[in-house]
Amino acid sequence: MVLVIRNSIFGALDDGSGNYFVKQIEFPEVFDGAAIIDIKASGICGSDLHMTNERIEPQTIPSGHEIAGEIIELPKSYTGNLAIGDRVAIDNIGAGKSCNNCYYCNYGQFRHCVNPSPETGGGFSQFITRKPSGLFKISDQMDWNDGALVEPMAVSVHGFRFANFLPGETVAIVGSSTIGLSSIAVAKSFGAKTIIASAKYHQQAEAAKNMGADIVVSSEPGELENKCFEITEGIGVDVVVETIGGTSNVPLTQASKCVKNTGKVLVLGGFRNPIEVNFLQPMIKEISFIPATCYANINGKHDFEIAIDILSSGNHPYKEIVTHQYSLEDIQEGFKTAYDKSSGSIKVHIMQ
Ligand SMILES: [Zn+2]
Ligand SMILES: [Zn+2]
Repeated sequence: MVLVIRNSIFGALDDGSGNYFVKQIEFPEVFDGAAIIDIKASGICGSDLHMTNERIEPQTIPSGHEIAGEIIELPKSYTGNLAIGDRVAIDNIGAGKSCNNCYYCNYGQFRHCVNPSPETGGGFSQFITRKPSGLFKISDQMDWNDGALVEPMAVSVHGFRFANFLPGETVAIVGSSTIGLSSIAVAKSFGAKTIIASAKYHQQAEAAKNMGADIVVSSEPGELENKCFEITEGIGVDVVVETIGGTSNVPLTQASKCVKNTGKVLVLGGFRNPIEVNFLQPMIKEISFIPATCYANINGKHDFEIAIDILSSGNHPYKEIVTHQYSLEDIQEGFKTAYDKSSGSIKVHIMQ
């Protein structure tokens, strides 16, 4: 039993210049219905890098949304199956804050809750508060690194389920960073016929092969397109998963070219700026663009639960993508390493 003294704790805050300083911060608000989790691992996401670049004001609460930890307190009113000491991955964006009673919550789309709990801070801190409905027990086979990988795995699980992916479909994955690699694992796990991935960096190409991609090509323009047509006798693949986003229209245009007429483009990459896209070709090809973000409960099962099943199965070496680990104290170094792909980094974890 851990005695929680709710005074100041340590957390990392960006001062507005893109530099993180670990300092004493207020204990996160224990709002009505909140559990308290002692954070053990938090991943640095590509979106953390983008948001750090774009931030001009000092942070007041820590960010970080790929989180695993140990439950140290449950709300008094709680009657579910979780217990103090359970090791959990945290849906800290959707189900961990959702009212569980509104239009969207009633069909499992917690991410779209119209009455969520206040934001009380994320994973680059010692503790986090979230509702038990957002806490998912990880299996005994999973360590804390696996636990923090549940979130990015769940993003891909959600996308594939949201897009009604079918076994036997051919899939092209644009980009082999964290979400590209989890998308390869999900495609494999959901019974894709053939998986082609593009990768910009050597370490990503290696990881894409290890994750189960049948063919890995470079990110040079034309490479992925040519390969998609080559293996489908000129038709194009059934599904393209765009995982890069950013500020350029190149990945989305490439995805539109790779997909067959009437195919689907699942958009998981975060686009930070308006981009120019020629919609005539997609219209003539009758492509469905399916943007998806975060996770939900679909057909009675939360995407986190399926992500945990995939990570527990031992069939996908997703943990190999964790190339670097830092303490919370050294988080600034962690961010530097995550930015600098020449360091060999794919996923950087902050461990506590
Ligand atoms: Zn993320
Ligand atoms: Zn709600």
